[in-house]
Formats: sequence, C-alpha cells, structure tokens
Amino acid sequence: MGPAPQHWTTSDGPTRHLRLAGIGAGPANLSLAALLHGDPEQPNVFFDRKADFTWHDDQLITGATLQVSIFKDLVSLSDPTNRFSFLSYLHEHGRTYHFLNAQFAEAPRTEFRNYLAWAAQSNENIAFCESVERVDFDGVFHVTTDRRKVTADNIAVGVGTVPWVPDFVRPHQGDTQFHVSEHLSKSKGLGGKRVAVVGGGQSGAEAFLDLLALPESERPERVVWISRRRNYFPIDDSTFTNDFFMPDYSDYFFRLPENKRSELVAAHLLASDGISESTLRAIYQELYRLQFIDHDERRFGLLPNRTVTACDRAGGGTWELTLRHNDEPDQTQCLAVDAVVWATGFLPAPKTFLEPLLDRIETENGEFRVNEDFAASWDGPPDRNIFMQNAVRGQRGLPDVNLSLNAWRARRIADRLRGRPAADPAMSFIEWSAKNSKDTQWTV
Ligand SMILES: Cc1cc2nc3c(=O)[nH]c(=O)nc-3n(C[C@H](O)[C@H](O)[C@H](O)COP(=O)(O)OP(=O)(O)OC[C@H]3O[C@@H](n4cnc5c(N)ncnc54)[C@H](O)[C@@H]3O)c2cc1C
Repeated sequence: MGPAPQHWTTSDGPTRHLRLAGIGAGPANLSLAALLHGDPEQPNVFFDRKADFTWHDDQLITGATLQVSIFKDLVSLSDPTNRFSFLSYLHEHGRTYHFLNAQFAEAPRTEFRNYLAWAAQSNENIAFCESVERVDFDGVFHVTTDRRKVTADNIAVGVGTVPWVPDFVRPHQGDTQFHVSEHLSKSKGLGGKRVAVVGGGQSGAEAFLDLLALPESERPERVVWISRRRNYFPIDDSTFTNDFFMPDYSDYFFRLPENKRSELVAAHLLASDGISESTLRAIYQELYRLQFIDHDERRFGLLPNRTVTACDRAGGGTWELTLRHNDEPDQTQCLAVDAVVWATGFLPAPKTFLEPLLDRIETENGEFRVNEDFAASWDGPPDRNIFMQNAVRGQRGLPDVNLSLNAWRARRIADRLRGRPAADPAMSFIEWSAKNSKDTQWTV
C-alpha cells in the first residue's frame, strides 16, 4: 500500500486508494467507521445509498424504545473512550444530566436514532447518496458506485435487511396492504377501517398498539392482531440469557457444528425476537381501558396461534384473510378487512454488487461462510478481505442481527485490518464449552 493520506475526504475528488471501502452505513458499518476514524493507516470510506441517515424511521412510533442497553452503542463496549459514543453525543449536545434525570427504563428509540445520525454526520468518511453497484477484484477491490470508482484493499459489507412478506401478498402491496416498515406513512389513512396486523414480534406489537391508541378521529373501527406464535411472548431479557449476547458465547457458537447452530437459533429465538415487556404491558392496559372503561370492546381482536394462508380481494376494495388455527388445523377462519399491516419480518438484503465475485466465495446455507474475524472464505489473497456484517446469523447466532455485538464485531474487523488484536473483553461467568474447563479436575 502506498503512503496513507493524512486526511481523507468523501467529496468527489480524484480517486484514491483505500484501505477499506464500506458498503452500507447502518449501525453495523457505522461502528466500524467509528473505530477506524482518525487512523492515518486505515483510509476508509463507507457508502450508503440513502440521501441521509435514517434508522427504521417509518417505525418510530411514539413511545418506541431501544430493546438493548444504551451501552450497546457504536463503540462503548470495545472502545469506551471513542468520540462516537452515546455519552459523547449527550455531552456534545449538553444533555447528559437531563438524560440521567429522565431515568429512562429503556432509552427512546428516536434518541438512539438521532445519536446514530449524529455519528454518521460527524464522520467525514461516510458518503450518503451513493449506491454501490459492483465490486470487482484484480489484486485490489474495484468498488463502483453510481457516482465514482474507488479501489480498496478490503471491503466491509453491511447492507442490513429488507422487508419480507409472504408470496401471496406481493401482488397486492399498496396503500391497504403494506409492510410494517412503512407503518407511519401508510397507517394515517386507516381511520374508521377494519385493520389486521399480522406478526407477533416487536414490530407487530408496536403497530397494534399504535393503531389502538390513535385519537378517535384517526382510529380504525377495529384492529385484529394475528400471530403464528401460541401467545404474545415477551423477549427474554434476563441476566443469564443476556450472556448469549456476549463475545464469549458468539465464539463458542461459531465453533459448533452447523446442525447444532440451527437448533440453537430456533430454540433461543425469543431471546432476540420477543416483545418488550413494557410494550406488552402498554397493550394490555390499552385493552383494559377500551373494554372496561370506554366499553368499546369491538375495537380489537386477538388471534394468536393462527397462520395466514391466503389474502384475496373481496368486493368493494376489501380483503379476505384466511387463517388456519395451528392446534386445530381443520378450523379455518375467514376475516374481512379493509387493510393489513404485515409485520412479518426482514431478510438479509440482496448483495447483487458482489456478483462478479460470487463464484470465488464459499457459502453455507445461503450465507457467505466467514472465518473468526467475519471475513468471507474466498480464493483471494489472505490480506484482501470481504468482511460481512449482520449477514451470518446461521454462523454467529442471534446477536449477529442486532446491536448487542456491533462494537465487538467491528473491533474484530478493525484488529484484523491493523494486524494487532486488542485484549478480549471479559469472559462470561458461564463456561459454555467443556473444553478447557476450569472445573475439569472435579470430574469423576
Ligand atoms: C424497527 C426496528 C427496531 C430495531 N430495534 C433494535 C433494538 O432496539 N435493538 C437491537 O439490538 N436491534 C434492533 N433492531 C435490529 C437491528 O439492530 C437493526 O436492524 C440495524 O439497523 C441493523 O444494522 P445494519 O447496519 O446491519 O443494517 P441497516 O440499518 O439496514 O443498514 C444497512 C444500510 O445499507 C445501505 N445499503 C444497502 N445496499 C446498499 C448498496 N448497494 N450501496 C450502498 N448502501 C447500501 C442501506 O441504505 C442501509 O442504510 C431493530 C430493527 C428494526 C426493524
């Protein structure tokens, strides 16, 4: 690599060679950008196709909170003195004492979103409005965006997820059939209508609560909440379960055989995908109010343990949803509704820009296979890496797709780029593996 520039700017100047090009600037890559910032040995730029930073903005309903500790910001758990910490954000905006005195049990999601936006906007290595279209390799990576070409020794792919709806919904998507990721823009027109919310995770819960709690003039006539799960289950946020979201467990999980890893992801899903207790409580209290104080019990319906098997047009612009009961499969319910909010989850975003390299990268169950440093296994030189962020849940477990290990994963990647691993954070109290156990001498 040639001499590193002292100052890297993202303006469309002449193309310079980078140590790392990032594709996507959501929380995952923003964390890496924060850890590399100011290091003259690691010139980097992170491209994001969005015009400016957003973070699931159309789901920022009033009262939405962060589902993890505020310490799980971009950097604190791996580099607490980094200038892109949440505390630094509070300090720079003169609100540290206020944040403490507010005594939030869970941080407001909008405040965390504003923190992320600040971190993106105050890092000159983040380039918005620039979509990566293609990556080629001839000893270095050639990254082609819709505005320029750059070369880089390494790339970090952090393109996140895209909304998912069942196949039978796709032809109908529009103003009365939409994914929850469009909730705030599209739910405005649902006043007086019969609405179904499909999906028993946090997003479905928030959409249901939001629609129930709208002012009278905007409120739907009736809102029905459908979930495949047997009940509306909470996230398991208890102490030892949170040890699954520590680096130690992530490494243990990574070394397990593939079939065991899939089994564990399914078994522990509610550790990550359940509903916050505070949201469940707010919903229950709202239902109490509607039924017993306002005597308005027709407003809501709760239908867990049902799978939606079809969604068809009915007369007069309405829809017919067909539901199968999971314990009573011979029981089918048909529901006439005016609109459906599909809170049916997200899938890894397509990575079509990697097509020129696809036949060189190993895969495992539809994921790029990665090594312990989140670098894809491929036939390129070992010092030229394709790092994968938030794209290997099958290999790294549930924390891979949430914020918990962002700072740690980014530090693993930064360490590999710098060629010097930092000390690993504290180990879990739990000995996950029987190998090298401290207690082996007690075994009879
Ligand atoms: C409503 C909601 C709330 C959540 N709340 C929490 C929470 O409280 N706690 C938690 O731990 N997790 C939470 N998550 C899960 C997870 O933390 C987030 O989804 C997080 O945004 C993932 O970060 P990311 O950087 O991997 O992806 P994203 O945030 O999706 O960012 C990916 C970025 O890549 C860009 N991009 C894609 N393709 C290209 C391309 N070709 N060129 C350039 N740019 C591209 C996109 O524009 C996007 O900005 C939440 C998820 C949702 C949907």
